[in-house]
Amino acid sequence: MSLIHATDIKKHYRVGEIDVPALKGVDFEIDTSAFVAIVGPSGSGKSTLLNLIGCLDHPSSGTLLVNEVEVSKLSRADAADFRGEHLGFVFQDFNLVPVLTAYENVEYPLLMVRGWSADKRHERVMKILDAVGMKEQAHKRPDQLSGGQKQRVAVARALVGEPKLVLADEPTANLDHDTAYRILNLMKKMRDDFGTTFVFSTHDPKIMSEAEVTFILEDGKLSRQGENA
Ligand code: ADP
Repeated sequence: MSLIHATDIKKHYRVGEIDVPALKGVDFEIDTSAFVAIVGPSGSGKSTLLNLIGCLDHPSSGTLLVNEVEVSKLSRADAADFRGEHLGFVFQDFNLVPVLTAYENVEYPLLMVRGWSADKRHERVMKILDAVGMKEQAHKRPDQLSGGQKQRVAVARALVGEPKLVLADEPTANLDHDTAYRILNLMKKMRDDFGTTFVFSTHDPKIMSEAEVTFILEDGKLSRQGENA
C-alpha cells in the first residue's frame, strides 16, 4: 500500500526578482514500511522534497498525499497537528537539547501529547531507548555522548510517538563511515521491528546502497532505482 503519493510536484523559491526552480515536476510513490534513499548532489532538491513530505512547506503546484491526506493543502496549524501525529524527524546535526539528558530528549515529544501518564511515558521511553541500544546511557547529556550515540537518541526521539513515517535529512553526514552504516542498519531494524517507513537523504553513494529503493534527484528531476523500479 502506498503511504506517499506525489503527482507532478513543482517547487519554486522566489529570491528577490529571481525564480529558483528546485523541483521541476516529480512523481513517485512510497509504500508503507519502505526504506528509501533520496540521493543527489548538493542543491539537487533533496531537502526541498523532504520538507514537502514533512509538511514543513507547500509545493508550488502538484498533489502530495501522505497517509491519504492531501498535505499540500493543509493550513499551518493542521500541518503541525499532522506532523505531531504521523511524522518523526532525524537531522544531520542531531538537534538534541543540550541541557536535557538522553531520556529527557526522547520523552520531550510525549510531553506535547495529552493523555500520557508519567508511568506510560517512562515505559515507552525506556522501551525505545532499549531498542536503539541506549538504555544504559539514558541519564547522560548530549555532550557526554559520541556522534553515533547522539544519533541513536535522535532516532529514538523520532520513533517514540510511533509515527508512520520518519524523515531523515542527511542523517549520516556528520558521522564516520562505520558509524553511518550502524545508524542506517539501526533505522532498518526499527523499520523491521515497528513497520515504520523511513525516507532518508544522502549525497554519499556508498550509504545509498543500504536502501531498498533509491530516488535519484538531479537538477530538480527524479528517477527511481531498486525494487520494482
Ligand atoms: P539539497 O538538499 O539537495 O542540497 P535543496 O533542496 O536545499 O537541495 O536546494 C535545491 C535548490 O533550491 C537549490 O538551488 C537551492 O539553492 C534552492 N533553495 C533551497 N531552499 C531555498 C530557499 N529557502 N530560498 C531560495 N532558494 C532555495
